[in-house]
Formats: sequence, C-alpha cells, structure tokens
Amino acid sequence: MALIVQKYGGSSVANGELIKSVARRVAEAKDEGNQVVVVVSAMGDTTDELIKLAHQVTEQPKERELDVLLSTGETISSTLLAMALESLGYKAVSLTGAQAGIQTDSSHSQARILRVDPKRIINELEKGNIVIVAGFQGVTPDMDITTLGRGGSDTTAVALAASLSAEICQIYTDVEGVYTADPHLVPEASKLEEIGYEEMLELASYGAKVIHPRAVELGKLYNMPILVASSFSNSMGTVICKEASMELRNKVRGVAHDTNVAKVTVIGVPDRPGIAMAIFEPLTKANISVDTIVQNASIENITDLTFTVARNDLIKAMSLVEPAAQSVGAKRCVTNAKLAKVSIVGTGMQNMPGYAALMFRTLYEKGINIQLITTSEIRITCIISEDRVKDAVQALHKSFELEDVA
Ligand code: ADP
Ligand code: ASP
Ligand code: MG
Repeated sequence: MALIVQKYGGSSVANGELIKSVARRVAEAKDEGNQVVVVVSAMGDTTDELIKLAHQVTEQPKERELDVLLSTGETISSTLLAMALESLGYKAVSLTGAQAGIQTDSSHSQARILRVDPKRIINELEKGNIVIVAGFQGVTPDMDITTLGRGGSDTTAVALAASLSAEICQIYTDVEGVYTADPHLVPEASKLEEIGYEEMLELASYGAKVIHPRAVELGKLYNMPILVASSFSNSMGTVICKEASMELRNKVRGVAHDTNVAKVTVIGVPDRPGIAMAIFEPLTKANISVDTIVQNASIENITDLTFTVARNDLIKAMSLVEPAAQSVGAKRCVTNAKLAKVSIVGTGMQNMPGYAALMFRTLYEKGINIQLITTSEIRITCIISEDRVKDAVQALHKSFELEDVA
C-alpha cells in the first residue's frame, strides 16, 4: 500500500462546493488503495483578510498573536475537508500543525521546520483514517504557534512527505503545472513535463509562486518527487525531480518575476571597514533578508550602498537602516518601493556566454531601464520598474523561444 501526500491550495478549497470536490478527489486516491495524508491551505483569500483584520486593530500586530490568528485559516479548511470526507463515508481526521508534529524555530511569520514527529499521523493512518493536516503552521519547543511564510503550506506537504517516506508529494493548485512563465501573465507559456530541483528552486525563489521555495529545498534534500498539477482537471502536471538530462535541455527553462521588491540606497557612506557590518547586522538580527547588494567604487573614500528587501519588509528595514546609516556618518537614505525582479533561469546557461547579452538587448528594445543586475550560476536577474514587468516577462519569454518547450 503506497502512502501519498496531497496538498490543495487556497483557490482549490475556496468554498464549500470546492471543498466537496476536493473530498471526492481525495476519496479516489484512497479508493486506489493508498494511505492518504492531505495538507490544506486556508480558503481563498482568508490569510489576506485575517492580516487586514489585524491591521484594523493595530498598526503593528505582535508577531506571536498574528501567527495564531493566521493559523486559524488553515485550521478551518482542514476541519471542513475532514467533515466532507466523513459525509462521503470515509474515515477522516483533521490535525493542526502542532498535532501533526511540525516543530519549528521561533521566527514568527517565517518559521523554519526543525523536525517532524509524525507518530500521531502514523497512528491515525493505521486506524484507517485519511489524515488532513492544516498547512502553513507549526509549533515551537515552547508550544507557541508559528507560520512558515506566505505560501508555506507547500512546505508542510513536502516536509510531511519526507518524514513519512511517502511515494510522492502531489501539490494541487489552480494551474496545470509549472510553466515557462506565469501563465496568467504569458498566455503562450508552455507547461513543463519535468523540471530539476535546482531550476525550480531558482524560479520559486525569484517569484514563481506556484510552489514555495522551501518546499523545493526540502524535496531536493530528501529526494522527494513533487508533482504540481491542477485541482480542477486530470491533465498531467509537472514533476519536480532530480534533473536527468541537463545537456539536452533548452538553455533557458523559465522566466520568473517578483513584484514584492523595494530598493534602499544609503548615500555618502564612508569607505572603510565595518560599514557593511553596521548596516546589515541589525537587518539580519530582525530576520529581514537582504538581496542584491551593490556598492559603488568609491570616489574620495565616499561611496553609495544599494540593496533590495521584500517590499513588505521596507518599513521595518528602514527603522533599522536609518539609525545605522547615521551612526556611520552616511549622508542620507533613499528608497524606491515600486520595483520588480525579472529573472531567466536554466542549468543549461551555466558557463555559456550570450544569455546576459540577449536579456539586456531584449529589455533595451522594449525601452526598459535596468536598475540593478544579479546573477547565480543558473540565473540572471534584472531589477526594473514594477510597471514594466509584464512587458519584460513577455518579451523575454519570446526572445528565449520558450513557447514550444516541454
Ligand atoms: P495555491 O493557492 O494553490 O498555493 P498559488 O496562487 O500560491 O496557488 O500558486 C499558483 C499560481 O502561481 C498560479 O495561479 C500562477 O499565477 C502562479 N505562477 C507564477 N509562476 C508560475 C509558473 N512558472 N508556472 C505556473 N504558475 C505560476
Ligand atoms: N494560507 C497561506 C498563504 O496564503 C499559506 C498557503 O496558502 O500556502 O500564504
Ligand atoms: Mg501557494
């Protein structure tokens, strides 16, 4: 008997009817003779609505309280799915993240899973239950509720699949798989049959929100195959697994975009040891991740330091950067919150010249100004104005001939 983990995203469980139809899909997997563990997200836009609600009562909700509040979204959908399965005649039990043994560190709103103790799940499976786990949440060693970051139910699913040695982790969502670009932005994007963990990790980390980057990381670590497919059809999805035939692949596999980007420039920083440490250490301590750091060559020992943070971290970041900049004698700080990242990704790009040039030419021909550039071995990212992101992604998709890739 195989054990499979399925995960259904927010739009797949957005209302009672949809929850009933997910229940029928789960029941089918059970009827095929599998042991089934299901992870669910909160219904529709519940998480956004709960965040709004918190902001109606305070400007700066306490992170501990916010995590408890947000976790209720997933708790609700897990109970409803268990009820829907019972009404179809299947034995089902819902578990919170804590009950399911998801233990995390205490970084509220961005917690990382430290370990999974699946004994309760195994126990329930042995009793013949379908086990429904509330995604996105865990518990600290002190029994405080945490959440795993937006989109984190995917990570719950892959972590459970790994700890239960499941045959596969199936992520069901509102698109039919992983495409060469967001199909809502590029209608001619192609669905990929298969993609390697590394490429998927870069795409997800740079904005392809079809799967949470931590989920891909865990998949890679435990060599857990992940299927991304539609909750609404039976068409073949995309399998994320070890890259088999790297050399045969199209060199660029996908274009990702991310509009959650803000840029900070600290102007007139003295060019001496210890400055970067003084600016970035407080951000690290506050758990704010910084990306794309650029320091200009200095003229007369004065330089500018530019970096990006997630847009929703900007206010918190500035409350730390401004005093740090002042203390090291910088002139002033300026910010721009209306930016986006566009990235091309592909393992085949490794050590092959020409990709950056084609990317820059494509953006130039569209009249799009590049503000910052960063690269990894298998990715090139340009930071541009947010209002040009759609044009940029569409043009890059065309330039790199991604319409007929599979
Ligand atoms: P869920 O609620 O099921 O977790 P998400 O909204 O988090 O779903 O992720 C699915 C969305 O990811 C799609 O609707 C699509 O707009 C977006 N997306 C971004 N990049 C890609 C891509 N390369 N392939 C497929 N979908 C993508
Ligand atoms: N409900 C959470 C969110 O909206 C987690 C998830 O959907 O994966 O981010
Ligand atoms: Mg998601």
